[in-house]
Amino acid sequence: METEVVNKNDLKKMNPVFGQLSFDDHEQVVFCNDKDTGLKAIIGIHSTVMGPALGGTRMWQYSNEWEALNDALRLSRGMSYKAAITGLNLGGGKAVIMGNSKTQKTPELMLRFAEFVHSLGGKYITAEDVGMTTSDMDLVRTVTPFVTGISENKGGAGNPSPITAYGVFMGMKAAAKYTFGTDILEDRVVYVQGIGNVGEALVENLNNEGAKIYISDINQERLEEIRDRYNVTIYEGDNLYSEQMDIYAPCALGATINDITLPQLNAKIIAGAANNQLAEEHKHGLMLKEKGIVYAPDFLINAGGIINVYAELENYDRKEIIRKTENIFNTTLEILNNAEVNGITSHQAAFDVAKTRIDARRLKNNNGQFN
Ligand code: NAD
Repeated sequence: METEVVNKNDLKKMNPVFGQLSFDDHEQVVFCNDKDTGLKAIIGIHSTVMGPALGGTRMWQYSNEWEALNDALRLSRGMSYKAAITGLNLGGGKAVIMGNSKTQKTPELMLRFAEFVHSLGGKYITAEDVGMTTSDMDLVRTVTPFVTGISENKGGAGNPSPITAYGVFMGMKAAAKYTFGTDILEDRVVYVQGIGNVGEALVENLNNEGAKIYISDINQERLEEIRDRYNVTIYEGDNLYSEQMDIYAPCALGATINDITLPQLNAKIIAGAANNQLAEEHKHGLMLKEKGIVYAPDFLINAGGIINVYAELENYDRKEIIRKTENIFNTTLEILNNAEVNGITSHQAAFDVAKTRIDARRLKNNNGQFN
């Protein structure tokens, strides 16, 4: 009997949404369209097994709709695993708004987006991500309670970025302890790529510890601002990846570890804030392992932000936020050791722990034992 061979591209054409490479049994994908305000957004709800799907809203000028859908799918999936490995009772979701946040983000557009979030009845809870600010979330809050990351003076936990950066710093220290036998980062050469909200706060932590910091960003003004504030060097070369460094900290966008950059990468450790750093988790995780580069899994070490916004839902205080964030150090060290013992990649080791937790909860939910 002849077997019909269908290649991945054909499969994608036949199943443009469910056949996406990034589609991973997502529960729901919502396309939001509003002609009057120009809103075009996608809300990806990957899983609500552990709780409501919480994840930020990203506003970005995508080059096409497939890119936006792909991002919503990848990011929302990542949120499920991030919440699970951090031990939070949250599912995974994420929203993307297509457009330039500097020129196309209007109050009307944000209010319309808030109505779409509200229409999901709490299944999805939003927060800020790239292109969004705490005051945007305050505006969303005027329409729906299903939002976190609002200002402290409005009862929220405030900007999550400094806590995210602190968690990344903890994960970086754990990776240093694993690699060098000490978590002290003094004189370690660290390249921070992307010095936005999280990148700057990470630079501040590294600066306090006396690391040798190089910064890179596509925004020259921002580079100069940060250089004037901290003891850092602006990277002037044209290929950051090939520079000799102790730690590469990707804090801009995802997929910077890919077929092109990985063979050139001259770092001993990768630890940064960006989501989905590995263009292809399995393949690039393995390539890093083979090259002997220690990778602190992104969804594990950048969980400070979600810990911060979760406090708004669970009413825990600043002390508990810091305690949970500092625990990223222990979890990262455990994951790196587990990966070594089991001969698997660190990404796989972290993913396995998160997935096991979600599967166990699903079983409990299905058996009606969870309340
Ligand atoms: P941000 O928008 O404040 O900063 C991003 C910075 O990266 C900007 O300065 C931008 O100019 C720069 N950038 C963009 N493309 C670049 C490139 N190709 N090379 C160098 N720099 C580039 O965003 P943020 O809130 O600091 O978040 C940074 C990353 O961390 C994002 O991937 C985000 O998803 C992730 N993250 C953020 C949080 C949070 O609490 N903000 C939580 C978890 C994960």
